[in-house]
Amino acid sequence: MNVCTKCGNPHVIIKKKQSGQKLCRECFIETTKEKVLHDIRKYKLIEKGDKVLLGLSGGKDSVMLLDILNSLKERNIIDLVAVTIDEGITGYREDGVRIAASNAEKLGVKHRIVSFKDYFGLTLDDIVEKDSDLARSRHPCTYCGVFRRWFLNKVAKEEGATKIATGHNLDDETESILMNYLEGNIRNLTRIGPKSESRNKEFTVKIKPLSEIPEKEIGLYVVAKGMDVHFAGCPYAGESFRAEIGKFIKDLSVEHPTIMYSTLRGFEKIKPVLKNEFANESSTGVCVNCGEPASGDLCKACSFLKHWDEN
Ligand code: SF4
Ligand code: ZN
Ligand code: ZN
Repeated sequence: MNVCTKCGNPHVIIKKKQSGQKLCRECFIETTKEKVLHDIRKYKLIEKGDKVLLGLSGGKDSVMLLDILNSLKERNIIDLVAVTIDEGITGYREDGVRIAASNAEKLGVKHRIVSFKDYFGLTLDDIVEKDSDLARSRHPCTYCGVFRRWFLNKVAKEEGATKIATGHNLDDETESILMNYLEGNIRNLTRIGPKSESRNKEFTVKIKPLSEIPEKEIGLYVVAKGMDVHFAGCPYAGESFRAEIGKFIKDLSVEHPTIMYSTLRGFEKIKPVLKNEFANESSTGVCVNCGEPASGDLCKACSFLKHWDEN
């Protein structure tokens, strides 16, 4: 019968292929939230008294995470502050910033907006242009990723945050596993997982509470809760290898609905071996220019900036 497996409500909004479970709106919201809170406990992502800095882009993942982390804030388990990074992507980021701000305001969560332009004097659009003048060598996402990590770490320190939370979902994690493996970036695999800690104490612990929630269910959650979300895609995303891998996994999932979970579970088995293998390679230094964590004299962000300055 087509009724909610939990409460018998005939208005089913999702039938989970993996488990066969059918859920109505209320039971879906409750079950999904419970799963995230369960994962937070299972992987010890958050402890009472933590101050969590949430990277809030305004997209569905981070807006859902804002909703769930705010429930912990309301129960006085954590302190919460959100940051939106404006990379400077014309025609795309403006709406995300506005939507992020309105969601944070609605819930009464402290919100900061920081921009590439203010800190580095360049927007991501400028960087892409500069890179193409210099016979473009890297994908825009590479620069974006480096500078965003720099910001999250810096803002976390400014705010005295003990954890940095991001909205990476199951699809993102599976993509990262395959992508790094296919590109031979085995060392990068050690950063995948719900919690990453570094030997370098300058790095704040990063957590991904949604890493076992499929992207589709995150979309359904925010729609079911009537949350305002930025659904547009970044104009630079389509060209990436990650996007190709993402399509490949989504296509496979149609006939093999458990493929993402099995990829993740398989990876969990080899991760301890990888961590052990690379245990001594993580650096403990700081950048001589900005004081952020670095493996050489300069952190990656400062070395990109220096290169552009000199050319
Ligand atoms: Fe940055 Fe790439 Fe994400 Fe666009 S898709 S916001 S360029 S990391
Ligand atoms: Zn129900
Ligand atoms: Zn630096």
